[in-house]
Amino acid sequence: MEIKITEKELKGTRPDDSSLGFGTIFTDHMFNMDYSPDKGWHNPRIEPFQNLSMSPATMTLHYGQSIFEGLKAYKNTNGEIQLFRARDNFIRFNRSAKGLCIPELDIDDAMEALKTLLRLEKDWIPETPGTSLYIRPTIIATDPFLGVRASHTYRFFIILSPVGAYYSGGFSPVKIWISKEHVRAVRGGVGEYKTAGNYAASLYASEKAKKEGYAQVLWLDGVELKYIEEVGAMNIFFVINDELATPSLNGSILPGITRDSVIKLGKKWGMKVSERKIAMDEVIEASKNGSLKEVFGSGTAAVISPVGEIRYGDEKIQIGDGKAGDIAVKFNSAITDIQYGKAEDSENWIEKV
Ligand SMILES: *Cc1c(COP(=O)(O)O)cnc(C)c1O
Repeated sequence: MEIKITEKELKGTRPDDSSLGFGTIFTDHMFNMDYSPDKGWHNPRIEPFQNLSMSPATMTLHYGQSIFEGLKAYKNTNGEIQLFRARDNFIRFNRSAKGLCIPELDIDDAMEALKTLLRLEKDWIPETPGTSLYIRPTIIATDPFLGVRASHTYRFFIILSPVGAYYSGGFSPVKIWISKEHVRAVRGGVGEYKTAGNYAASLYASEKAKKEGYAQVLWLDGVELKYIEEVGAMNIFFVINDELATPSLNGSILPGITRDSVIKLGKKWGMKVSERKIAMDEVIEASKNGSLKEVFGSGTAAVISPVGEIRYGDEKIQIGDGKAGDIAVKFNSAITDIQYGKAEDSENWIEKV
């Protein structure tokens, strides 16, 4: 693949690492590629980061035919750029594409596009521990057309955003809220794909949770509202006695790469790891009889996010003693040490850029 590079004349500068938040600052350049039925994916190019110009009738705006990914590039202790399981992100991107009737990408081409962009933007990768460069590959439907069908044309782009350390205030547990009335996704739907509508559909309940003082919503299954699903940007794990349990991928849960990494490491460490149905009733019971030891979320943004309280109707389930649990800490250290090149990459998860 021949990528045409047009460099920005006046380059910006990366803000001080301590002032970085999440998703607000973007680098100088972006990758773009177009799709049409006659040419397939074509015209791969890196250009200055710029606004998109499109017809108000553009299909993605009306019918939500769009998919995205979220991953990060890290600088290791030698100043080299590392990607963590990036190929798995593009495999998942293609699964989402298929589910939304979007033409799939050649994964090698997508990796080459990302690496070329990262090499050009290497000075935008922060170096302070915990910071990274967030990567957002996206595909949108671009036909200017009103009417429900799959678009014929698409744009694939990649934008980059330097992000701060997630736990600048310490690795402290979050409080999550269960909706007894709203659902995120149903089996047979698009819950297992990273597609825009899933997040729009989660906002109403998320606002309610925030008003009650909770950081995020823990979603139950969309049919019976009985079984745990996930947290909407994170998957969820429960330590019940000596078992590490997470809901099995049932079609309405997003197959997280961090989730998969936790499962693989847990098994390697000899833990009893299970992917199974977890009823909310079981969690309540485990909390009452003292067998619920830890709860934590897993996702690219925060890696591991310990949960200190689950609110379910009038019940407040307290987990642990207000500090992150040992198992959550262990997974967080193990995964971040691999990501930042501080530990040996025993699982072959790192790809140098
Ligand atoms: C991205 C995402 C996750 C976490 O996936 P990772 O690959 O671990 O970052 C979990 N749930 C939803 C709904 C997501 O969009």
